[in-house]
Amino acid sequence: MDKHALLYEGKAKRLYKTSDENLLIAEFKDDLTAFNAEKKGSELGKGALNNKISTQLFRMLETKGIATHLVKTLDDTHQLVKTCRIIPIEVVVRNIATGSLTKRLGIPDGTELPFTLVEFCYKDDALGDPLLNDEHCLILNLVKSESDLEELRRLGREINTILKSFFAHRDLILVDFKVEFGVDSEGNILLADEISPDSCRFWDVHTKEKLDKDRFRQGLGSVKVAYEEVLKRILAQ
Ligand code: UDP
Repeated sequence: MDKHALLYEGKAKRLYKTSDENLLIAEFKDDLTAFNAEKKGSELGKGALNNKISTQLFRMLETKGIATHLVKTLDDTHQLVKTCRIIPIEVVVRNIATGSLTKRLGIPDGTELPFTLVEFCYKDDALGDPLLNDEHCLILNLVKSESDLEELRRLGREINTILKSFFAHRDLILVDFKVEFGVDSEGNILLADEISPDSCRFWDVHTKEKLDKDRFRQGLGSVKVAYEEVLKRILAQ
């Protein structure tokens, strides 16, 4: 399957058309951005690591009944995915308070939340991905009905339950993550985009060392080493 016209270029991926309108090729880039692209960088090999990590996690989630857009890995940095219309809502799922939540509500960093928190953010860089409530989502026509929002919340929680346990077995705490969903030509909601250390926070259970994009955000160094460690633990049986 060959890449045809570039359909979309995001901060970490490019999407290309293919000869089949139901399939797209996603290319994982080495670029890193933070703080709504105010901080920019690049890490050689990061795209290939995220492609491998996301492929493993999507396949694992598929075996647990989560429908995803992933068809197959093509090479180090490319995946074949099902064409879908991305719902412009970032579904953020949190187990532990950190990042923007601590800044917004003053909850001390590292506080374990009494229950899993699901937040919706508007996928709009120009607006800085603002937090949305249900009524905002409906007023902006981001989804058709309240039941679609319930489904996104249910899927976010279910993915969290599966991933939290998967990573706990690998001595990693799943602190929080962001997922995106798309709707395919038949109206099915599919997990899309990626799940990787770019979009999740992982802390080592023993040392609490950060093994995710916070290493880049906070200038801690060893970004690639951390992503390699996450892949190594995912591949460990
Ligand atoms: N996240 C993401 N893309 C975004 C915003 C957040 O992948 O545009 C992820 C982020 O990696 C973290 C979670 O969502 O795992 C919660 O991020 P937070 O709202 O704390 O954002 P930040 O601290 O990065 O502003």
